[in-house]
Amino acid sequence: MIPITKVVVDPAAEALVLEVLRSGMLAQGPMVERFESCCREMTGARHAVAVTNGTVALSAALEAMGVGPGDEVVTTPFTFVATLNAILGVGATVRFADIRPDDFCLDPDAAAGVVSERTAVVLPVHLYGLPADMAPLSSLAAEHGALVLEDAAQAHGATYRGRPVGTFGVAAFSFYATKNLTAGEGGVVTTDDDDVADRLRVLRNQGMRARYEYVVAGHNQRLTDLAAAVALPQFDRLADVNRRRSEHADYYRTRLADVEGLVVPQVFDDRGHVWHQFTLRVTSDAPVDRDELVRRLAERDVQAGVYYPRLVHDYDCYRSHPLIEVGWTEVARQIAAEVVSIPVHQHLSEHDRERVADAVVDALQPTGGR
Ligand SMILES: *Cc1c(COP(=O)(O)O)cnc(C)c1O
Repeated sequence: MIPITKVVVDPAAEALVLEVLRSGMLAQGPMVERFESCCREMTGARHAVAVTNGTVALSAALEAMGVGPGDEVVTTPFTFVATLNAILGVGATVRFADIRPDDFCLDPDAAAGVVSERTAVVLPVHLYGLPADMAPLSSLAAEHGALVLEDAAQAHGATYRGRPVGTFGVAAFSFYATKNLTAGEGGVVTTDDDDVADRLRVLRNQGMRARYEYVVAGHNQRLTDLAAAVALPQFDRLADVNRRRSEHADYYRTRLADVEGLVVPQVFDDRGHVWHQFTLRVTSDAPVDRDELVRRLAERDVQAGVYYPRLVHDYDCYRSHPLIEVGWTEVARQIAAEVVSIPVHQHLSEHDRERVADAVVDALQPTGGR
């Protein structure tokens, strides 16, 4: 089976983890400082504050930006559930706007249709590693006195008009096991805003500025040196990892361009895509639907993934939730029924990707069932 994701920890990480184990300092310490320095380098942001994971990065960022009950956050319903849970976690109201069918990200026009004087934050998600259309989204936020929080959990190293994601306001990255750059579990908030960064550092450490001097009711949101050590050696290789993924994506885009019923993911001249996922759309012109294609790929030893099968609020636990406002999201609903991701990770060989593309073509033959 060719897996949709593969986690490989290399000898350099093993050596660093051993160094941490032998140092006797397992919690937040010098490795986390090095990790933060790498995150500043990756993005060019002035500050990087490491936290426990990507979900905490989002909620801690919102809290540090002063967002709470009564505030609204405008975001996309086509995302991982963490985006939603982080907003609900600070007691703010979520206002979903539709996505664009060409980039799967928050549609600036749709967002413009739902912003109001209660909007505190516009929160685009750089889905699959492709930056959202930040220029109009940033303008929209600025016009309404709102702040921008990027969910860059899937977009390490991605760029928009030459500028790295993570620098458009405040941004949250995840270092979960399957992201392009991993700590196992980990997160970071990047920003140029000195006050936001200061609040984040105090909040993550029990609201403590100096030892046992509490200035605010805080949390324990610290990252460990063990996790930071796992991630550290990968920063130097991130460009290679993203380039390899991009080569696979180029191959698939060419091979699968003219397959009836498939839409290959679009690329944009002014956006550097880092291909966290390579996501096809299976339209009604295809002989089978998305779920059947996933089954047929499994029969051909190719693991496909569906990110995400339903809109994030389309579950009983969120229906009629008092803090969730859903407007027109029909593009997102349609896309959620059509998407399928195929393996694009850096550990694929050329032979693997040929097998994947062959399997997709074969599975979409009208008589392709086995
Ligand atoms: C992974 C992810 C997160 C959450 O990160 P964790 O580290 O798993 O908490 C948030 N948003 C998106 C879009 C993600 O893909």
